[in-house]
Amino acid sequence: MSVAASPEIRDLRRLAYYDSVTGLPNRILFRDRLVQSIERSRRTGLSLAVLFLDLDEFKQVNDTLGHVTGDRVLAEIGQRLLAALRASDTVSRLGGDEFTVLLPDVAAADAAGIARKIIVAVRAPLAMGDPSIQISTSVGIAMYPQDAATPDALLHLADGAMYTVKANGRNDYRFHSPDVQALAVEAVRREQELRLALDKGQFVLHYQPLFDLRTGRVRAVEALLRWNHPRLGLLKPGRFLPLAERSRLIVPLGEWVMTRAFGRARAWREAGDPPVRMAVNVSPQQLEQPHAADRIAALLIETGFPPSLVELEITETTAMADPEKTSETLAELTALGIRIAIDDFGTGYSSLEYLQRFPLATLKMDRSFIRGLTDDPAACTLVSTMIGMARNMKLDVVAEGVETREQFEFLIAGGCDLGQGYLLGRPMPEVPLRAFLQTGRTWVPRCNRSTPPAALAAGAGGPERMLKS
Ligand code: C2E
Ligand code: MG
Ligand code: MG
Repeated sequence: MSVAASPEIRDLRRLAYYDSVTGLPNRILFRDRLVQSIERSRRTGLSLAVLFLDLDEFKQVNDTLGHVTGDRVLAEIGQRLLAALRASDTVSRLGGDEFTVLLPDVAAADAAGIARKIIVAVRAPLAMGDPSIQISTSVGIAMYPQDAATPDALLHLADGAMYTVKANGRNDYRFHSPDVQALAVEAVRREQELRLALDKGQFVLHYQPLFDLRTGRVRAVEALLRWNHPRLGLLKPGRFLPLAERSRLIVPLGEWVMTRAFGRARAWREAGDPPVRMAVNVSPQQLEQPHAADRIAALLIETGFPPSLVELEITETTAMADPEKTSETLAELTALGIRIAIDDFGTGYSSLEYLQRFPLATLKMDRSFIRGLTDDPAACTLVSTMIGMARNMKLDVVAEGVETREQFEFLIAGGCDLGQGYLLGRPMPEVPLRAFLQTGRTWVPRCNRSTPPAALAAGAGGPERMLKS
């Protein structure tokens, strides 16, 4: 005969086995049910699944809306999970924004179906706060007996699989897979490292001069980002930019680049250096930010650098991601007096019609075309055509990646406005760059138009090569 539990005992049980925020089973009860389910599976021969969920960017909800709203969101998510599952399943809150789900007697295909259902249920807008919040979740799945035989191992593997989802863009599910997992753990570690690098001041800017091919003078410098990594040395953007973009860290990082570049350029002006235009590269995520143009305007006010000396470089891919929105943002930026350059021109897919609709000031021919000068006839024709087109559209045209004297001569003869490349000047840290600007290195076009001065050619082995990279 069973004795009904007293209210006190019921309270104690609730405290010991249930989470107070969501009312769901806690870690202890979940583990207990998992032990029992494994035992049953062993007898029946049916498989079971453990799902590990982590809400995406939940910290932002807590940070912006406060913990009370954060707790309400967690409770609501708990209810949605319950509604998406069968009565025989167990859903628990492990703590923080982590939930686990136990699906007894399921095959992997069914577990995948349930994971999809959960993702959709979590993603529905939450009617809390204004505007209403929407969050997503990343789900990792481990199967008994295929992946592991003990509760802790199953939870650990499902947790690892969840990381692979995080590393691949979130809002999805994945099954445990040993190889993929090692890569994902590494990617997450690098992402954390990158996040910390900004706080630790490990980023630096190098600057590469852009020369007016008619006068030989420096017309602008392009700020190029470098990560001074404590173990790996000076890293170029190719090594960390894709990760920064995937993780959206590029947004704060890009703001840092602008603040730094404009701030330094202003300091150089105040110290009496000849005025120079500052070109900064901009990633798609930066332009997609709400009020992107206002943020940039605020940054310029903060740094006290004149918009008329700013050029923002965007690629065709950035421009074409959302052409309507982009042309709006670009129009706002140009209204401030900022110039827009299209970078790596010719490598992406772009519609010429859109190019005409964007308020562009400069077209930068990608260095893959310049490399073909002067022995590849197709490259020569393409470069001449691009120069002609830029002329017709009243754009400045820049040749990127000028490395040889032959390329340089072809460009001058073809009427290209500006040149940038190792032959003329490498990307370099601030101190040598300023020395470069202060000496006002030029070549005299009429005397010997086709020969860059020895001083410039010597820059080919310039400062960046001396650094570890
Ligand atoms: P980009 O904007 O086209 O910059 C020019 C790249 O060509 C730079 O590479 C520069 O070092 C390299 N370069 C310059 N002259 C020559 C040359 O004569 N020969 C060769 N082979 N290369 C030359 P870097 O610094 O590695 O930057 C690569 C790309 O990373 C940049 O291409 C730009 O798209 C991106 N990037 C750099 N800094 C930033 C940044 O602050 N924000 C964003 N969003 N992207 C950045
Ligand atoms: Mg660029
Ligand atoms: Mg480029």
